[in-house]
Amino acid sequence: MSIRERTGSSEAVIAARERYVARGIATTPIVVSRAEGARVEDVDGRLYIDFAGGLGCQNTGHGLPAAVEAIREQLDRYLHQCFMVGMYEPYVEVCRLLAEVSPCHGTEQRSILLSSGAEAVENAVKIARAATGRPAVLVFDHAFHGRTLMTMTMTSKVVPYKQGFGPFAPEVYRAPAPYPYRGVTSDDAICAIEHLFKAEVDPASIACAVLEPVQGEGGFIPMPPDFPKRLQELLGRHGILFVADEVQSGVGRTGTVWAIEQYGVEPDLLISGKSLGGGLPLAGVTGPAEIVDAVEPGGLGGTFGGNPLACAAAVAVLDEVRKPEFLERACELGREIRMRLEQLAARNASIGEVRGLGPMLAVELTEPTPDLARTITSAAREKGLLLLACGLYGNVIRILVPLVVSDEDLARGLELVEESLVDASTRAA
Ligand code: PLP
Repeated sequence: MSIRERTGSSEAVIAARERYVARGIATTPIVVSRAEGARVEDVDGRLYIDFAGGLGCQNTGHGLPAAVEAIREQLDRYLHQCFMVGMYEPYVEVCRLLAEVSPCHGTEQRSILLSSGAEAVENAVKIARAATGRPAVLVFDHAFHGRTLMTMTMTSKVVPYKQGFGPFAPEVYRAPAPYPYRGVTSDDAICAIEHLFKAEVDPASIACAVLEPVQGEGGFIPMPPDFPKRLQELLGRHGILFVADEVQSGVGRTGTVWAIEQYGVEPDLLISGKSLGGGLPLAGVTGPAEIVDAVEPGGLGGTFGGNPLACAAAVAVLDEVRKPEFLERACELGREIRMRLEQLAARNASIGEVRGLGPMLAVELTEPTPDLARTITSAAREKGLLLLACGLYGNVIRILVPLVVSDEDLARGLELVEESLVDASTRAA
């Protein structure tokens, strides 16, 4: 019998969580019982409009019917095999679809599948090192790439991601990324990289630069339209590979399958994750054969990478997100959310900027502290809206609504954002 069946309440689960689960994983007080589309229900029967999407993993909605059906069918055939022990078609099919939608240059695209975004970033770095014979990695301010040793090193926020967890991995160099709202332009960022190459690291020793086209955890900061291309030109002069980390910005999140498509740049490697598995853990690294196949057989892999259930779901997800009607709806949602957030900003002095790409949108509060954002997200929860903050200062309210949300739920959710902001501002005053 589960804890809830024994005791019948979310408080009991929360108490047991405190008793048995590590403190180091931060949680909200919501205990989920079911979810569908853009709605979540808790064990006490409260309904929430979901603007968090399981942290960006539900672009196609909780329980995409085609994915659920594919998972059920796969469930009856076989579960784990380990792709290295016995190949299976769903893995190969996901790689074929990733090749079809790949934004990378080159005609023959290859992929490897992993279980988490961090693992995919690690593998992208391994591939880039093998392909170039170089050790170093260039990353950016406000980056988030994961919580493993390498990806934690690559991540750009001390508390809570790095404090107390050193020593860090060697040969990771960081440059400013454009952040116009806080005064960093594309010109500043390009100059800073050129300076880094003179003062800090020989560019001939750098295997790759890893960039999120829209920085996610760092504050939903879209790269300015000119930056990725200028970066790629600069990297190209030094033989450095351009890796797009689209774990959060990919799989339809910005109104195109990959955000980088909107920048006119063909990366050398693409990292995907989160929504790829439609709610099951799946991530990938994709790129041209001449780069990906620089690694000898046996050099890449992992016991669980490309789990058959996750692959079955991903086939349905990739089929869905490249449909013109899915992407059109995503763009329509983006226009609507942006308009509503801009109206909200015009009425509310605590909002400094509305920004994002397509429906990957956020507001940054003027105060560079997490207090108001925290009060807003908990007020939202009390009102029946799942809402998340992010950013170096924890002061960015981001919208990761499943892109299947109804007009009514979207409108209500946005009203709740406003009500929560007003409540929180009144409480703070
Ligand atoms: N890269 C980006 C851009 C992310 O947003 C994340 C997670 O938020 C990761 C990598 C790490 O993914 P995971 O949490 O699946 O390891």
